[in-house]
Amino acid sequence: MPEFGIVIHGGAGAILKEKMTPELEMGYRQGLLDSLTAGYRILEAGGSSLDAVEMAVRVMEDNPLFNAGRGAVFTHRGRNEMDAAIMDGRTLAAGAVAGVHNIKNPVSLARLVMEKTAHVLLTGEGAEEFARRQGMEPAPDNYFFTDRRWQQLQEAIAKENILPGGELSEGNPDGGNRCGTVGAAALDRHGHLAAATSTGGMSNSRYGRVGDSPIIGAGTYANDRTCAVSTTGHGEFFMRGVIAYDVSALMEYRGESLISAAEAAIHDRLTGLGGDGGLVAIDSRGNIALPFNTPGMYRGYYLSGGVPGTAIYNE
Ligand code: ASP
Repeated sequence: MPEFGIVIHGGAGAILKEKMTPELEMGYRQGLLDSLTAGYRILEAGGSSLDAVEMAVRVMEDNPLFNAGRGAVFTHRGRNEMDAAIMDGRTLAAGAVAGVHNIKNPVSLARLVMEKTAHVLLTGEGAEEFARRQGMEPAPDNYFFTDRRWQQLQEAIAKENILPGGELSEGNPDGGNRCGTVGAAALDRHGHLAAATSTGGMSNSRYGRVGDSPIIGAGTYANDRTCAVSTTGHGEFFMRGVIAYDVSALMEYRGESLISAAEAAIHDRLTGLGGDGGLVAIDSRGNIALPFNTPGMYRGYYLSGGVPGTAIYNE
């Protein structure tokens, strides 16, 4: 039985080997490895699962390949609008931010919301003002600019659908419009669980759209009695299915194992709703689950006594 461990994801979607270059694939694998190693080191030294998931997510937020922090996708208006959440399985304390701009590490702002306020979720300008008051330096717009993401926005705009009522569809139903999210779930040596998720949302999104990542129970959940979960995929469906909490509830109320609960949440509930994506989860015994119903999900695990593992496709 592993004494501690961490699982991470860097987004799920239409990730196809034929569309990937060897350099890009290596970049993603290295990015996952860097994140796993940073989280693992904290756990190995006896640190908390909360510190480990925050650090693992920060490393991916700083990596322009992932759709979070620096690599966040652009909204329709050409801005980077980010969401993040963190949850402590020991106390069920949680913190989240939604629709924030110019924040280098939204996951750390989410943690400050959890630890320094009486609230769970802060949004937009208010959250940015709170960040400034906590001494967080805003990162300039050009910190978040990557040519790849800008091109993705132009392609998404070119492919936009007009719905029958004259409204524009925000998401692309085939999932091609999305570019992922990052997340981590960890168990520490003290038996405590934590989860964190951070995202740039969906490319070309409008109207202040917020997905599942900062919604406790939908995209992020942790409870020492059951498991820690972080999800990625078409957020609207994860919110409607309350997917992260669903895994925990199946374990708590039906006594299911982590694996069967996580598989049911993705392959029965999410798929049944017509949604796509995946999740990573770990329980208090160090069991892990990484189910997804998309062609691929950037993912990795590192359990005590073992070696780190990363995967991208359905391998
Ligand atoms: N779940 C994220 C959102 O809907 C996006 C993703 O994971 O691809 O905002």
